[in-house]
Order: sequence, then structure tokens, then C-alpha cells
Amino acid sequence: MMQKIAIIGLGLIGSSIAHAARRGALAKQVVGFDASADVRGRAAKLGFCDVIADDIADCVKDAELVILCAPVGAYPSIAPLIAPHLAQGAILSDVGSVKGAVIRDIGPHVPPGVHFIPAHPIAGTEYSGPEAGFSSLFDGRWAILTPVPGSDEAAVKKLRAFWQGLGSQVDVMDAAHHDLVLAITSHLPHLIAYNIVGTAHDLEQVTEGEVIKYSAGGFRDFTRIAASDPTMWRDVFLNNREAVLEVLGRFNEDLSQLTRAIRNNDGQMLFDFFTRTRAIRRAIIDVGQDSAAPNFGRNKS
Ligand code: NAP
Repeated sequence: MMQKIAIIGLGLIGSSIAHAARRGALAKQVVGFDASADVRGRAAKLGFCDVIADDIADCVKDAELVILCAPVGAYPSIAPLIAPHLAQGAILSDVGSVKGAVIRDIGPHVPPGVHFIPAHPIAGTEYSGPEAGFSSLFDGRWAILTPVPGSDEAAVKKLRAFWQGLGSQVDVMDAAHHDLVLAITSHLPHLIAYNIVGTAHDLEQVTEGEVIKYSAGGFRDFTRIAASDPTMWRDVFLNNREAVLEVLGRFNEDLSQLTRAIRNNDGQMLFDFFTRTRAIRRAIIDVGQDSAAPNFGRNKS
């Protein structure tokens, strides 16, 4: 059990960490801070932290573990505010969805004697804010740690144990690899969802009423992802530009191939392609990362 952990940013992920840390009795005291006074007030009412600090320096002071849970675009302004107040031997971590940019922005501010170990839980929902958090968010999901060169092994072990205590399975990889893997498994799917929902909305021959009425045809599964937090996702694309552009290039090439197959009546190509992708869905269910229930377990179609 840690004496004190500090959480900066009390939205979906920050509040879920607080809930899960309490469930797992991982810290004697969980102290939270958010830049927004309104969020601080709501978090205090919800009670998932032991203390809500009004000052960011008080929040991190004497904490064994400090976790940044704000949108990654806010990190450059947070780092210099907390750096002088971090305790010797503390672990400074985060949950940002990109890792190379986080190391670029935070790394230069980390004082000697503080262990900087970036992290990213692969868990979330389309909801944001302190009300959105819940203790089981990380159960059975992966958390990826991306230690920097020279990261202290014992500190990495301690952070790994913390994430396991929150319910996660833990993997370790370098930041560049993380950013490429997440570009294809998370960032590109979000971009496609935002785009398809935007295109449908703009399609003048089909009314918005019809798009909503007949959405069970597949569209609504995209709308869930496209309802994700605009600030967070703006920051993800601006901070993982190269990897996203790389996978987007490949995606466009494959889309051209499918376009050509449709134009050329190449049924065999389409059948083979769709058969290959169906196997991926089965593999995701086999490793327990989704439910095999028809229609994602929804009652009605
Ligand atoms: P969220 O629900 O919007 O919460 C973020 C909170 O941080 C908000 O309360 C925000 O306040 C606050 N904040 C903004 N700037 C701040 C600052 N300078 N100092 C302190 N607090 C600040 O977002 P979230 O979904 O929890 O995402 C937080 C982080 O988790 C992001 O870095 C994201 O990349 C990462 N992540 C998200 C998911 C997901 O599915 N949502 C999954 C994995 C990782 P205001 O609302 O007033 O701006």
C-alpha cells in the first residue's frame, strides 16, 4: 500500500483510477486536482478521492506516485507547475493515449531523483468527466508502460504492481512502438468513425432522420466511437501525427484496392478479404477483449 497518490485531471480516467485504487486498497490517501473548479466541486461531492486539492503543488507534495490524467495537450503547462514539488523517489506517470510526445513534453522537466515512467491504459468509454468513472474500468484490460532509457527497474516494478492492483494486465514497450500500435488499433478507428459519422451527416439525399432510424445497419457502432471527447482526440491526432499519417497511408491504399474490386466486380477478392477480417474478430473474442454475444450483447437490434 502506498502512503499517498496524486491524480491530476479528474475525468473518466482519473476518477476511475481513484475508484479502483480505493477498491484495491492501493493507497492510504488519494489526492486529486483538476484545473476546473467546477470539476473539483463535482469530484468532491462524488467522494472518490480522500482529498481534493485546490492547489496543484499541494496535490503532488509528498506523493509516492503522481499520475497525470489530463488531455495530453495540457501536459506542457502542467509539467513546470509540479516539477519543483515532486518528492525525491516519487514515480511520475501518466495515462496519455500517445507516448512519444509525452516524453518530449514532460521529460525535460523531471527533476533528478524522480522516476518518470509514462503509461497508457487501453480502456475507456465514450463518456468524460468525473461522473463517468467506475472501479472496474481497467479489469482485464491492458496497461502499457513505456519506461524511458535509464528508468529505475524497481520503480517500473512498483508501477506494474499498481496497475495490476487496478485490475489490469501489464505490458512494457518503447514509446515509438506504442504509438505505432495504437495508431492502428485506436487512433485510426476513431478517425474513421469521426469521418463516417460526419459524411453521413453531410449526405443531403439521405435525411438525418433516416440515418438515425436505420442506424442498426452498422452505423450506430461508429457513432459510439465518434461520440468520444473532442479535446482528448484533437490532442491525440496532433501529438501522434507521424504514426497516424503512416497507418492512414496504408489504409488509403487498402481502401483503393477494395474500391477497385467493387468496380471490377471482383467478388473473389472481396470474399477473401472479408474472410480474413472475420478471423480477427474471432481472435479478439478468444483472448477475452470483447463479448461473443450477438450484437455486442445488446438486447434489441
Ligand atoms: P476527461 O474525462 O475529459 O478528463 C480530463 C480532465 O482533465 C477534465 O476534467 C479536464 O478539465 C482536466 N484538465 C484539463 N486541463 C487540465 C490541467 N491543465 N490540469 C489539470 N486538469 C486538467 O478525459 P479522460 O477521458 O479522462 O482522458 C484523460 C487522459 O486519459 C487523456 O490524456 C487521454 O488521452 C487518456 N486516455 C483516455 C481514454 C479514454 O477512452 N477516454 C483511454 C485511455 C487514456 P476540463 O474538462 O475543465 O478541461
